[in-house]
Amino acid sequence: MTASLRKFASCLLVICCTCSTILQAQPVSAVAPGTAVTAQQAAKQIIELIAAADSAMGKTQYELAAARLTDAYNLLELANDEKLERNVLNSLATLYYNNNQLQLAGQYYRKLISLDEKSGDLQALSVSYFNLGHVVASQKQFDAAQKLFQQAQVLSHKLNDKSGEAYANKALGVNAQALGDMPLAQSLLMKAEQQFVDLRDDKQRAAVLRNLADVTLLLQQPKQAIVYYQQAIPLLLDAGLNSAVIRCYRGLSQAYEQINEYITALKMQRTYSNLLQAELEQISNESSQRMREELDLRHYMDSNTKLERLSASQQGLLEQRAHMLQLQMWVLILVLALAVSLGYMLWRGTRTARILHSLATTDELTGAFNRRAIMEAGRQEWLRAKRYVQPVTCLTFDVDHFKSINDTYGHATGDVVLKALTATIADMMRQTDTLGRIGGEEFLLVAGNTDLLQAQSLAERIRLQVAALAISELGDRRVTISIGLAGYQQNLSFEQTVQLADKALYHAKRSGRNRSSVYHSGIGQVPVVTGEQPQLKLVEAGGN
Ligand code: GH3
Ligand code: MG
Ligand code: MG
Repeated sequence: MTASLRKFASCLLVICCTCSTILQAQPVSAVAPGTAVTAQQAAKQIIELIAAADSAMGKTQYELAAARLTDAYNLLELANDEKLERNVLNSLATLYYNNNQLQLAGQYYRKLISLDEKSGDLQALSVSYFNLGHVVASQKQFDAAQKLFQQAQVLSHKLNDKSGEAYANKALGVNAQALGDMPLAQSLLMKAEQQFVDLRDDKQRAAVLRNLADVTLLLQQPKQAIVYYQQAIPLLLDAGLNSAVIRCYRGLSQAYEQINEYITALKMQRTYSNLLQAELEQISNESSQRMREELDLRHYMDSNTKLERLSASQQGLLEQRAHMLQLQMWVLILVLALAVSLGYMLWRGTRTARILHSLATTDELTGAFNRRAIMEAGRQEWLRAKRYVQPVTCLTFDVDHFKSINDTYGHATGDVVLKALTATIADMMRQTDTLGRIGGEEFLLVAGNTDLLQAQSLAERIRLQVAALAISELGDRRVTISIGLAGYQQNLSFEQTVQLADKALYHAKRSGRNRSSVYHSGIGQVPVVTGEQPQLKLVEAGGN
């Protein structure tokens, strides 16, 4: 039951592992789903996973490497390959040890040990004890570490593995030093030193010599310690272990102090502090270089940000200016449009007013003033005459037998006659005179600054001019007019004077038409001149 469960679990593991391999899309070949994974396929996958883990470790991607190796670990049972299993376990343990995950590292080394024990591979077992010893020592379990190193040492000795024995002795010596057992540490390190001499491993010898020197110094054997330090220094320098060299000088200084060679001790101390200072400077240079680079980068980024901000603000300003210009342009256009429309409205208003005024004051047919306008103009003239004591005369005109013209030639021809009459009078009057149509075929002329005699002369000239007028619509027929005149009198209004002029006109009509008649309030006669035979006619005040 348990066996079948384990098998099921391992199958599940294989499936999961395969799925995760496919999903992570790493250069690891996948087994087609649904097909059973053979040992060979599993082995192939494990090899690929180990390679992928190595590559990840090379890029210090420890988590990815661990994941790859764990996948490989889960495939181990299927592959059933001891060599591969050892490889995977060793890789996992080393990875965790290097990554300071000591618990996990220990766990995998222990698995490795049990595998080695099972297989009886003593050489491998010795290495595994040694490695686990280091893990345990790093966990400060020095007693356990000692046992493991001893096991490694025994096995190496048994196998006549000189190198293994030397490493085990070195590890045991350093571990004894950590445990505070200096005599044991010294003897073990001496043994290891000799073994590395035999093995011609100068780097390991140098490291052992330095530890040995430290232990010897602690054992109050300064002279011997000095010998070890002096042996160690050139070897360490060759091996490039500079910080170990510096520590040697500190040891030397202490050793010389113990033998009362203070000057040398001081020299060593100085060398030590100089070297230490140089090393610290180097470290600080490196870090300050790093910092400078970082600062440069930050400065560069700051400058960039400033530039960006500057350009953004400049752009903002430019946009604002463009906006303002646009706004100003619009305001200008608006003002112009307003001014144009105001001007147009004003012009139209004035024109309309002019038209209205003209409509209100002008007779439509003849273009002369209408009755209202001529009466108003006459009143003004009367006021002026009164103020400046000037003569002014009213002349009323009426077409003779106009009805018959209308009847004979038609109303339109009658209109033509009225227009022709207006044009004739307008032609002959002064610019300061005012002409208006006051009835159908009746007109009134207000002649400013003109006395009765002057006005009578004008009336006669007009009458004769009209009588001579040839109007094509009338053929040979001539048009005549009768005229009544009345001059300004201080006690009479303009309207009253017009009525008197009308009276004189009536008189002219009764006297035979085509003549002018002057109203005179005083005694004497006013001549009335007719077309061919000038006659003098008088209108008596209060006459008719
Ligand atoms: P008299 O010599 O006595 O003035 O005779 P008359 O025919 O001119 O006088 P009457 O007052 O009888 O006739 C005036 C005519 O004028 C009557 C009317 O038809 C005509 N009349 C009035 N206004 C107009 C107009 O605007 N155009 C035309 N063609 N005729 C008009
Ligand atoms: Mg009339
Ligand atoms: Mg008439």
